[in-house]
This record gives sequence, C-alpha cells and structure tokens, in this order.
Amino acid sequence: MIQILGTTFAALLGLAFGSFLNVCLTRWPKEECIVSPRSHCRNCYHVLAWWENVPLVSWIALRGRCLKCRAWIGWRYPLVELAVAALWTVPAWKLFHQLSDLNLPLIQVYDDLFLAVAWMFFYWLIVALAVLDAEQLWLPDRITVLGTVVGCLVAPVHAALVAHSPIKDGLTETRSHAVTSALLSNLVSIVLAAGLVLVISWVYWLIRRREGIGLGDAKLMALLGAWLSLPGALLAFGLGVVLGALVALILLAVPGARTDTKNWALKKLPLGTFLCIGGIVSSFWSGPIIAAYLRWAGF
Ligand SMILES: [Zn+2]
Repeated sequence: MIQILGTTFAALLGLAFGSFLNVCLTRWPKEECIVSPRSHCRNCYHVLAWWENVPLVSWIALRGRCLKCRAWIGWRYPLVELAVAALWTVPAWKLFHQLSDLNLPLIQVYDDLFLAVAWMFFYWLIVALAVLDAEQLWLPDRITVLGTVVGCLVAPVHAALVAHSPIKDGLTETRSHAVTSALLSNLVSIVLAAGLVLVISWVYWLIRRREGIGLGDAKLMALLGAWLSLPGALLAFGLGVVLGALVALILLAVPGARTDTKNWALKKLPLGTFLCIGGIVSSFWSGPIIAAYLRWAGF
C-alpha cells in the first residue's frame, strides 16, 4: 500500500518537475530568466491563470491550444511531463519497496533514499538533454558537466553508506577502500566512454574532413559513463547509434522528409537525443541486454 501511494506521489511530483523543466527548455535557449516573467503564451503573451498551468491536465483540457489566441502549444509540453513522471516511478517503486520493510536499519533507509533521489535527478537531466538536442542540436555544458560530476559521486557516497550498514553481505573491504575503488572505477568509465566518442569523431574527421559527432556528444557519453558505468554507457551508445540509423533510414524512405534534396545528406540528426534514449533503456535493462548479447555472440 505504501509502495503504491509513494510511487503515485513520485509520479505527481514528476509531472510538476516536468512542467518546470518545460519552462527551462523553452527559456534556456533564448537566455531568458526561468522564474520571471510568469508563464505565458509564447504567441500572444497572455499570462496563464493557475488552472491553465496544471501539468498535463490543462494541456488536455485546452486541447493543446492557448485559451486566448488558440496558438498550438506543442506536443513537447505533455510529453516531457509524462516522461519525467513515468521515469520517476521506477526509482520510487524500488525505494518504497525497500522502505516497506520496517526492520530496515536507518543507514539503509538513507542509502535507499539517496539512490532514489539521485536517479530521479539523472532522469530529469536526461529528458532535458534529449529535448534540447532534438529541438536545438544543443547539449549545454552546464547540464552535461554537472551531471557527470554528480554521477561520479553517487557510487562513492553509496559505497560509504553501505560500509556503515550492518548488512554488508560479507563485505570485508574497509570503508575508505570501497569509496576509493567506486570513485576510481567511475573516473575510468567517464574517460573511456568520452574517449570512445572522441576517437570515432577524430577518425570520421580524418576520412570526411567535417565534424560528424560533436564535443557535446562526448560530454554526454562522459555523463552516461558516470551513471551507468562503462558497459552500460557502451550499451547506450550502441542503442543510440542503431536508433539514429533507423530514424535516418525512415527519413530517407519518406519522400516528404527530403524536401531539401541537395542538403539532406548533410542534415544533422540529434545523436544526443538517441544516446539519451539508449541511456534510459540501458539504465533499466543493461544487465539482461548485455548478457543476452554475449550469449548470442558466443561468449
Ligand atoms: Zn496565446
């Protein structure tokens, strides 16, 4: 019961944070302040009443249009709100499953709470990056670098909390050793994940003499390396590239999508968006997918 109530609450909170994210995603690229002025229609500047600003519900009630000028608000608003809400239910479900055990030591409660909040933060950043790259082909440093630094610290803090916990599953390492090795392994993942993209982009440049994969994508891979460790980040990269190629093929097959026939080969696809989708999938199922792949490859 606590698990269902807690997860529902997390989903509602996710809707609210998704709604705030929408404001950021609209205003950051234009370098506008995210707190003032109040939420308004981007077309007629009509200031929204509170009931026009309820996440998801208002969009559905207004059928995606401004109340005053009927301008189309766009699919991004409800999609971002739904995405954050849906992604947040996963760490919340795990958290409240753990918390329903009333004999849990307090330090374990802190650890579970810390991990749930950390992963909610990760999903919030990932949705932000996916949308910014899709809409603006822009992966801002302030998000990728911040995400990498925070992600790099999550595993060491978790290791420190686990080391304090009475249930250690026969862990014999000393606390400082566990923390250092978690930090080192994260740093290695970050360097190798970003390095892979840098090498690919350098090889591409040698062959084609133009930029194929941007520096932003390398920083995004660093972020994924920090959170998902190296195998998870590599899986995210593989999934992202396959997904990007599929979308490119579909765009080639649809005649209307190639209006500018001369330049369509130079058209940039938001690789970062596909990497983010790969990262989300990898965060849920990296274990089973990698195991299935290794079996298939005959390892
Ligand atoms: Zn309007």
